[in-house]
Amino acid sequence: MHATERMSLSRVNPAPETTWQAQYRESITEIGTLCEALDLRPEQLPVSDAAARQFPLRAPKSYVGRMQKSTPQDPLLLQVLPHAFEEQESIDFVADPVGDLKSIKSPGLLQKYHGRALLLATSRCAVHCRFCFRRHFPYSSQNPRTDAWRTALGEIARDASIEEVILSGGDPLVLSDQELGTLGRQIQQIPHVRRLRIHTRLPVVIPARISAGFLDWVESCALSVVVVVHINHPQEIDHELRCKLRELSATRCCVLNQSVLLRNINDDANIQVALSEKLFDAAVLPYYLHLMDKVQNASHFDVEESRACSIMKEMAARLPGYLVPRLVREEYGEPGKTPVFV
Ligand SMILES: *Cc1c(COP(=O)(O)O)cnc(C)c1O
Ligand code: SF4
Repeated sequence: MHATERMSLSRVNPAPETTWQAQYRESITEIGTLCEALDLRPEQLPVSDAAARQFPLRAPKSYVGRMQKSTPQDPLLLQVLPHAFEEQESIDFVADPVGDLKSIKSPGLLQKYHGRALLLATSRCAVHCRFCFRRHFPYSSQNPRTDAWRTALGEIARDASIEEVILSGGDPLVLSDQELGTLGRQIQQIPHVRRLRIHTRLPVVIPARISAGFLDWVESCALSVVVVVHINHPQEIDHELRCKLRELSATRCCVLNQSVLLRNINDDANIQVALSEKLFDAAVLPYYLHLMDKVQNASHFDVEESRACSIMKEMAARLPGYLVPRLVREEYGEPGKTPVFV
């Protein structure tokens, strides 16, 4: 069957809701299983059990399926592998590098910038990225779901300057379509909120998350919807993800990409150019390229600013302007992300 035919059929005849949820549940969480799937021995990597205890391995099989076998340096593998490098201590790399804890308005609600409030919709993620700036975040005391987001939504309703609600986490698309529906309806009822933004990596690691139910939800949302996916490497965009992202773009939402510049993974102009081109092919525009937040146990991913700028310079020379993301860094106390290359 032709791919587009299959796509339209799946909209008419939705697969059971549990398809992506089953993939989420069946994710790889054991280093041994991951190594077996990739024909690797743990000592080839090398892995760290201490790192895995602090922040467990988690990778859906669909994502692992896009990794190259027998390749310890695979750029997707390095994003999820609890690596011995994580045991290196570095004093500038701290638990809360971007001042999240100082920006909390009410449990699970962060506000740093004018007009935009960020709701930690859940603490769970489908993939555990080793460079995650929230890997040390105290979700247990900041879980907004304990009161069905009532306190956080009440806070948004009280502040008429908030025009945009950003669903973040964890990954907000871990919520079921039904839970998203409920949350979306509550947000829509707040008269001064005009835009709903979702920051997610879940569809990248499980493309089936862009389910018929989710597409219907986006289509029926009374607010302007922006979906920012987090894709770091062109190898992450396979045929299935490309089709799903195109389906998402065909609804009335705006789809953008944000990525993190990571040493030995995507700190190379050729890779960044290929990423922008593949994103455009999937109807997604590049938005931000982030310098990594200096989070504890992740210093080995850091890319120097001068190197980042030379990559940007080459991208700007090779790509149309709309395919060049903005290179930014997050600094606590600033009114927005700080541009690094202008
Ligand atoms: C990054 C971020 C935003 C969004 O910033 P944009 O520049 O609008 O993408 C909003 N709130 C918080 C807390 C953030 O960290
Ligand atoms: S998906 Fe995002 S929030 Fe979740 S572990 Fe990865 S970087 Fe962190």
